[in-house]
Amino acid sequence: MISVSHLSKRFADNEVLKDINLNIKQGEVVAIIGPSGSGKSTLLRCLNLLEKPNTGTIKIGSVALNSEHYHNKDEINLRKQSAMVFQHYNLFKNKTALENITYPLIVGQKIGKDKAKQQGLSLLERVGMLPYANQFPITLSGGQQQRIAIARALAVRPKVLLFDEPTSALDPERVHEVLQVMLQLAKEHITMIIVTHEMEFAKYVADRIIFMANGVIVEEGPAKSIIDNPQHELTQRFLRQIT
Ligand code: ATP
Ligand code: MG
Repeated sequence: MISVSHLSKRFADNEVLKDINLNIKQGEVVAIIGPSGSGKSTLLRCLNLLEKPNTGTIKIGSVALNSEHYHNKDEINLRKQSAMVFQHYNLFKNKTALENITYPLIVGQKIGKDKAKQQGLSLLERVGMLPYANQFPITLSGGQQQRIAIARALAVRPKVLLFDEPTSALDPERVHEVLQVMLQLAKEHITMIIVTHEMEFAKYVADRIIFMANGVIVEEGPAKSIIDNPQHELTQRFLRQIT
């Protein structure tokens, strides 16, 4: 469903992603782990075209973008195939929880206000945030804001949800409620790519774990075998350091 081939990305002369090849099936949950600076965020941002790849092809569903034959139409289409959840939620501060979700529906997808509201309320319910529909982000905890961000990402019905360390900015007691929502989505077979440092969660929820270092995929495989029985020395060292 997602296929990335020969993707590379550099910033000036810093080659951050080097010939990345990746295939992800519909409904698969993939966790990406690796040291700081290894290119995890850049990979997600390339999938969402927040960064433009220098070489390679990205295909999500039936939409493909080739960095050598670049069309703006492909770019707009490809961007619609995914939705990103960021570490710092990135909610609209001057909009309520509900408005944060309905805004992209009304403005981006030209859905009528009443219908957007209905969808928004049902999404808030799905992430356990219905009672907070009319509150502004500043009055909510980090975990609550992140759950709204997840609902907002779901609203546009993307083919894949991209999470970039969704729990790293949260107070420890708030991590669980966000992971719980993600676990629920995994059970509903929503395709997800999750950059995370939560190894226990990755082991439990991910079908596959990808370990990145220095801009390459060093090792990948079923979650349990990567965590419990890593083969590559870099993976072993990384897991020793963080656990
Ligand atoms: P972390 O675990 O700290 O979030 P990461 O694996 O997500 O790290 P990236 O953020 O993808 O790493 O960064 C990979 C490399 O690319 C780093 O050397 C970083 O400095 C560089 N980089 C990322 N974004 C930019 C940018 N916009 N301009 C220049 N260099 C960048
Ligand atoms: Mg990052």
